[in-house]
Order: sequence, then structure tokens, then C-alpha cells
Amino acid sequence: MSGFDTVVIVDWSARSAPSPARPTADAIWIAVARGGAAECSYHRTRSAAMGALTALFDTELAAGRRVLAGFDFPFGYPRGFARALTGGDNPLAVWGALAARIKDGEDNANNRFDVARAINAALPGIGPFWGCPDAVADDVLPAKGNLRTGHGLPEKRECEARLPRAQSCWKLYTTGSVGSQALLGLPRLHHLRQRYGDVLSVAPFQSPTTPIVLAEVYPSLLADHIAASAEPDEIKDRAQVRVLAEALHAMGGALETMLREGNAEEGWILGLGHEDALSAPPAPPPLRDDCFAMPAGVEWTPVDDALAALRAGLHPIVQAERCKVADACGRVLAEPATALRASPPHANSAIDGYGFAYDSLPPGDPVLPIAPGRSAAGAPYEGNVPRGHALRILTGATVPEGVDTIVLEEDTRQSAGQIAFRAGIKRGANTRKAGEDMSAGDKALPKGRVMTPADLALLASVGIGEVSVYRRLRVAVISTGDELIEAGGDATKGQIFDANRPMLLAQIAAWGMEAIDMGRVSDDRAALRAALDDAASRADVILTSGGASAGDEDHVSALLTEAGAMQQWRIALKPGRPLALGLWNGAPVFGLPGNPVAALVCTLIFARPALGLLAGAGWTEPQGFNVSAGFEKSKKPGRREYLRARIRDGRAEVFASEGSGRVSSLSWAEGLVELPDGAAQIAIGDPVRYIPFGSFAL
Ligand code: AMP
Ligand code: MG
Repeated sequence: MSGFDTVVIVDWSARSAPSPARPTADAIWIAVARGGAAECSYHRTRSAAMGALTALFDTELAAGRRVLAGFDFPFGYPRGFARALTGGDNPLAVWGALAARIKDGEDNANNRFDVARAINAALPGIGPFWGCPDAVADDVLPAKGNLRTGHGLPEKRECEARLPRAQSCWKLYTTGSVGSQALLGLPRLHHLRQRYGDVLSVAPFQSPTTPIVLAEVYPSLLADHIAASAEPDEIKDRAQVRVLAEALHAMGGALETMLREGNAEEGWILGLGHEDALSAPPAPPPLRDDCFAMPAGVEWTPVDDALAALRAGLHPIVQAERCKVADACGRVLAEPATALRASPPHANSAIDGYGFAYDSLPPGDPVLPIAPGRSAAGAPYEGNVPRGHALRILTGATVPEGVDTIVLEEDTRQSAGQIAFRAGIKRGANTRKAGEDMSAGDKALPKGRVMTPADLALLASVGIGEVSVYRRLRVAVISTGDELIEAGGDATKGQIFDANRPMLLAQIAAWGMEAIDMGRVSDDRAALRAALDDAASRADVILTSGGASAGDEDHVSALLTEAGAMQQWRIALKPGRPLALGLWNGAPVFGLPGNPVAALVCTLIFARPALGLLAGAGWTEPQGFNVSAGFEKSKKPGRREYLRARIRDGRAEVFASEGSGRVSSLSWAEGLVELPDGAAQIAIGDPVRYIPFGSFAL
């Protein structure tokens, strides 16, 4: 068996009363990850949490799903304790021994201090357990750890010795003391063992090959990763279980090995030593084989249906990485960017002028003495401007204490250390309020945003120096056709220059993606197969041009069909068909038409939103608008048409020839006029939808 379908993480609690009804940190949190975002739940008592867990286990077992359940308390005690308590070295016998002693009610009322005292009494010296409310403390169960003597057991387990922050399991009281959690947790796990029998095993004491496996976890192992992945205002305990469940689930088969590691007497913290792997961003799932499936039996697919099918079948396929804001233009935000500081951070002046307290103005046209000093941008005035005085203040300067209103320099007269100006200025005039643009904690930019130069200014203004972005999508470009040679070469009869490749490579680079030039391939199936293999190993997505129809020399569609993951879309689009879509070794392939005009239109209309989605930027529709037609046209029904167009004198004009071999029309055009799928009779002055090429930017 390899991997777990479901990973459950439990943040345990040793409270003696039910937790508050409103979710808080000091309670039991359970996260369930099955791939994708984990589901979290809050439980007020241990008994309620165990009810939820057994219900979950039962459901997963019935559905044939394998479950790993992690609990954040020690599964064993330091070496020697098992023998002292039970006469043998089996840690699971300790579970039974504790279960026989611990009483833990529906309402969390429990006898843990009595049990700890009884165990201390049965062992030599004073200890090992310690820590309890003063009223409960005595010579056998001391309130302080340094009152213990001669119990002879190590303070920490082997795994805890590697974690300076980990607490000793002997400590039963006050924050972070896992001792009570274990005393109240292990009996509960003992009952799970009794209930599930051979279906359940406990790591690392037993071989983790059963449908349910229990393991000890320690969320602080991933403290930095958890802090970075927490949602705004998320309760820390919730974030801990959620992120840990997702991280462990993402490890897949590697968990099998981890579960076997550790110390067979003391137990082990799952994942110890693998913190980096656990904190790595999860690899997105592969695309499904049927991601390009279109409804069966459809002869001609309308453009909108084809787009909807593409949108439904694709999802982001790139991982996140960190990037300096200065380098972030054109990159896609992988997490929302949150303002670290208000902008502006302090109230400041919008002008060069004089500042004063509005309430201190005398009736009539004010004449105010000028206070010594000034406030300039970067050199704030440190004092408090006396009431009834004015201070020289420059644009961008922090508004000092004692000032709330600023009068424009040009609206004042100055003489003999005084300024005079007309009555009627408004309170707060010419000041910019602190945080008027953004407050600390505001969302500056959403996840999926393709960052513009202005976005970099926004991020910088709120103190963000680095952002999490998706790795650039790698897009390979292949031209196919025996007739193609490289531009600039010596062409013989029948040869033409490869025009698509430079166009497509440049378009991809302009979208902020990594364009990978795979060169030209002749109309030869073996050569094309090798080129696709190579491209799929180097790129996330492949664009080919040419050979996408169903003819003898249309090897792209033939190969994709052979690979079994091909959809030949006959899209009701002009110019454009055919478009072949398929997966090659898991990489989506857009088999574009060879004709450069059709290749570009298909790239803009189909590849662009699809690539945006794969790159993490989400699905975007090009923004068009209606303008008056500067042309006449009679359009037949059945296919959506895109005309090469531009706007002159407020009207859309179209290229004189509709011939799809006219490469020059693409250079001439500045956008496309989109004519609807149905019939249309267009007269000069009729509204038509125009989409500027700029709208196809990502
Ligand atoms: P195909 O889709 O392979 O049947 O090609 C359709 C038309 O586009 C043919 O006239 C090809 O010669 C032409 N063509 C194919 N690839 C390119 C290219 N990379 N550059 C310019 N024209 C091309
Ligand atoms: Mg060809």
C-alpha cells in the first residue's frame, strides 16, 4: 500500500471543562485533508472530538479510503518508564495501564493529577511527574520540577532532545505542558485500538500497513511554514492542524518511510528531520486525461462552448516561489499581498504652505505668528505647534502635533514673522490622512494578479519587499512542416520561411511566461514524436503550429490521437479551425493551425485564457467594446468570425482582404472585430464589438 487518501490531524487539549462555544485556541481542532484544502472542525470536549473521529474513521473505512491520524502529544515516555510502570518495554502496554486508571468525563472533568500522583508514589524517589495547581501539590506530586529527586528516568525522549523547544512529558501544568495531554490522550487512543483491532496500527511501534494508522505529530516542527501559510485572523491552532494535514497529505508515498522511523520504545515525532520536504510548496496535481473532452456527438463546437470546456478542464500547474517586488512585474501572485504598513503611514501635507490647529483660528481673516522651524518630507517637526501659531510645512511632510489644517502658501501674505489669509478655510484642508489609501492588514492585491508597474508601486508603498509568485509557466513552441525553413536562409522552390515561431515565442514572452524554442520539425511522425517528448520534459505546455487537421501530413493530430489523449476540436471559428488539443506525457498541447493568421487568432482566443489559468492568473476574458463599423459585411450563420481591424476616426475599419494567408494584415491590425455566431448584416455605422490587441495581454 502506498500513501494515504485521508490525513487527519488533531490538536489535543487537556482542559478540565468544556471549551467555549465560540471557537478559541485552547480547544480541540481537527483538520481533514484529502487533497486540496483541508476541512477544519472545532470540538469543545475530548469526548465530542472522539465521537467525530470514530465517525470519520468509519466513513473512510466504508469508502475504502486509507487514513493517517496524527495527534500532537507523545505516544511514549522516556526510556525505562514502560518497564517501571508495566514490567515490560512495550509502550502500548503503557497505554492500557493509563486507560485503566484515567477517568475522563463527557464534560472534560478528569483525575489526571491523582493518576500522576499514584504513579509517582509507585516509583522510586520523587517524580517523575510534576506540575499542578498549588492546592493539589504535595510531596508526591510537586508543583515545581526541581523538587523531584531520585526517580531515575530521563527528562526527555530521544526525539525531544533534538527539538530545543519541546517540553518534557513529565510536566503536567501550565502552558505548553504536554504531560497532561498525553495522560488524557493515550487512554483515548487505547480505546481506538480496542475498537478497530487489526485494522489500526500505531507508528512507529507497529508496521504502518493497516487502513488506519495513528502517529504522533508536533506542529511546531513546521512553525515557519505554518506562520507563512496561516490565513488572516486564523486561530493559530486551526492553522496548525490545517497546514500540517495538507503538508503530510502532499507527501504521498513518502509517508510510508517516515512512519517507520524512530524509537520503538519511546515513540517518535512523524516527519522529524524532514521539515524542509514538509514545508515545500505542494506540487499541483496533474491534469486529467479528459481535460479537453468536448460533449460527444457535437459536429461543430461553438467558440463559447469550447472556451467553457477549456476552462473547466484546466487548473494551475505551477508551484509558488518568492520574488523581490522589484522583479515582480508580469509575475502572478500566488498569495494575496497584505499591506504591512498604512499608506500614508502618517498624516502628511498635500501642499507647500502653513499648518495650524483649525480650532485655534480667531474669528475673521486670521493673522497667525509663525512658529520657528518647519516640517519637510523626511525631516518631520518634532515638537508640538503652539495653539494659535502656524508652522511652515512642505509637501509630503508629516503633519506635526498641534496641526490639523494647512493653508496654501500662495493664499497667504507673510510679514514680520506672521502670516495672514482669508477666512473660510475648511477643517483638515490640504492634509492627507494616515492610511487614507491603505491601512496595515488591508488586502493590497489578490491572488492571481498579474503584476503591473503600478502594482509594484502599491506593494512598495505598503512596505512589501517580497511576494509569493507562481513560477513562470514554461511554454514550448514547435513549428511543423516540410516546407518550412528558417527566415534568412536560402529558400528553394516550394519552401517558405517559418513565420509562426518568432511570433508565438514573442507573444509568450510578452505574457511573462518562459518561451522555449524547440525549433522546426519536418512532417515525419518519428521526428515529431521525439520533439514532443523533448518539449514535454522541458515545458509545462506545448504550442505547435501546422499539421493539426486530419490530412495525410497532419502528424500533430495523428500523434495526439495515437497517445489517446487527443481531442480534435472542430471549432465554429473563422479564421481558426482546426485546433488540436491533447496531453503529451501529461503536458497540454495546443495544436494550432499552420496558417499564421489562424495561428494568432487561435492563440489569442483559446491559448491565452488557457495559459493564464495554467499559470495561476485565473481565467480572463478579453475586454471589448462596441464601436461603429467603418465597413460593410454580410455574414453567414454558423461560425464566429474575427476580422483584423483597427480604429480610425472613431470607427472600426477592417483589412481590405479577408484572405487568411495575409500575414501583413496582422501587422496592419491593432485589434479584432468579433462578429457573432449567427448571421449578420453589417452596414456602415452599425455597432460592432472591437477587442484591442492590448486586451489580450495577461
Ligand atoms: P498546415 O496546418 O500544416 O496544413 O498548414 C497550413 C498553411 O500554413 C500551409 O500553407 C503552411 O505552409 C502554412 N504554415 C504552416 N506552418 C507555418 C509557419 N510556421 N510559418 C508560416 N506558414 C506556415
Ligand atoms: Mg503542414
